[in-house]
Amino acid sequence: MAVASLRGEAVELLQGLIRLDTVNPPGNETLAADYLRSYLEEAGLQVELYARVPERANLVARLRGCGTGPRLALLSHTDTVLADPGEWQLDPWSGEVRGDELWGRGALDMKGQVAASAVAIASLAREGFRPNGDLIFVAAADEEVGAGFGLSWVCDTHPEAVRAEYALNEGAGERVVLGERVFYPCALAEKMSRPFRLRVHGRSGHASMPAIADNALVKAAPLIQRLGEYRPRRRYVAETEAFTRAVLGELPPVDEVLERLEAVSPLARELLEPLLAPTFSPTMATASRKRNVIPALCEVVVDCRILPGEDGEAVDRLVHEVLGELEYGHEVIDAQGGTRSPGDTPLWDAVASFLAEVDPGAEPLPYVVPGFTDSHWLRGPFGTVAYGFFPIKTMDAELQARLIHSADERIHLDDLELGTEFLRHAARAIGALDA
Ligand SMILES: [Zn+2]
Repeated sequence: MAVASLRGEAVELLQGLIRLDTVNPPGNETLAADYLRSYLEEAGLQVELYARVPERANLVARLRGCGTGPRLALLSHTDTVLADPGEWQLDPWSGEVRGDELWGRGALDMKGQVAASAVAIASLAREGFRPNGDLIFVAAADEEVGAGFGLSWVCDTHPEAVRAEYALNEGAGERVVLGERVFYPCALAEKMSRPFRLRVHGRSGHASMPAIADNALVKAAPLIQRLGEYRPRRRYVAETEAFTRAVLGELPPVDEVLERLEAVSPLARELLEPLLAPTFSPTMATASRKRNVIPALCEVVVDCRILPGEDGEAVDRLVHEVLGELEYGHEVIDAQGGTRSPGDTPLWDAVASFLAEVDPGAEPLPYVVPGFTDSHWLRGPFGTVAYGFFPIKTMDAELQARLIHSADERIHLDDLELGTEFLRHAARAIGALDA
C-alpha cells in the first residue's frame, strides 16, 4: 500500500513541477523552489533557499542524521531547456498523464528525478527514518546554462549546506541489453570540456581584387579540415577499462575494442566510442562582416572534450602537431569537468543490491558521461563520491535518449516509481554506514 501511495505522490509532484515554466534562460527556478519547499516542510524537513538573485533560488532540504556516518546528497536541477510547442503532440507544460506516461518538458531531464528525490526524502522523514549521516536534497538552479546561479555558486558561498561524502545525480541508469546480459550504466566520471579558439590573420582588401589581399577565411579552411578529419590515438582510462571488462569479460587491445563490442551489440560500441579519446569538433567560425570585404581575421571555435584525468596541455600540444606548419593563434576558452569518483564504494554496492532486487541478473556498468553534469561541483571541492544514476527500466533506452532535450519528452510512471524506490534504498544503505 505504501508503495502505491508513493507512486501517486511522485506523479502529482512531477505534474506540478512540469506545469511551472523553468526554461533556462531565464530559469525562474524560484517557482519550483517555492513549490518544493511547501511539500518538503509538510513532511517536517528543514528547508533553505539560496539565491544569488531572487528569481533563481536553489533549494536544500535536510533530514538530520545522528552525526556518526557519511552524508548523502540527492542532487538534481529544476531548470529545463526550451520547448517549441509546435513540435510537440501535447502542450510541453501540461504535465498530462497519457496511458502510463507523464508528458512534459523536464520529465526525463530532470524534473522526474527531482520529484523522485523529493518524495524519497519526504517519505523517509514521515516514517521517522534517522540515518547516521545527514540525508540532503538539493534542487539546483541553472544547470542547463551554467551562468553562475546554480550549484557552483552554492558550493562557493554556502559550502556547508551541500557538503556530502556521497551524492546521486543525473547522468545514466537506463537498462541496456548487451548480448545476453542486462546492464544499467552508472556514471562514475565525466569528460572535461576544454573548448579553444583559433585565430588566423591575413590582410583585408576589396573582394573584387583578391590578389591584393590575404584572405584569413581561406587560410582557416585547412585548419578546420585537419581538425575535422583528425582521429586521436585511442586509449583506456580506468572507467572504460572496467566497462570493457564487464561487457567482454576481458580487455582486448584498444584498437580492437570497438569491433569486439560491435559483435556483442551495436549499442555497446556506441556507448564506448566517444570515451576512448579526446574529440575535436569545430562548431563556430567568424570572418568578414561584409560580403565585399576580404577578412583580415578569421576566428574558429572548436568544441573539445578530453578524457577524465587527461593532461590538458598535452592535448594542446597534440593540436599543434595536427595543425603543423599552418599559421594560427591558439587560445583555450574554458576548462570544466573531467572529475571522477572511484567505483569500489558502498554507493556502488547500493546500486548493485537494488538492481539485484528489482531486475535479478542485472549489473551496474561503469560509465563516463561524455558531457558535463553538476556532479563536478561536488567532486572537485569536497571529494564527494558522486554517481550519475537513476534507473530507467520500462522505457526503451534508445527512445529515452532521443526524447531528452527534444519534443514529446515523457517518463513512464513505472520508472518514476522505480527511481523513487531506488533513492529510498540508497538513502537507507548509506544511512546505515558508520564514519
Ligand atoms: Zn539535466
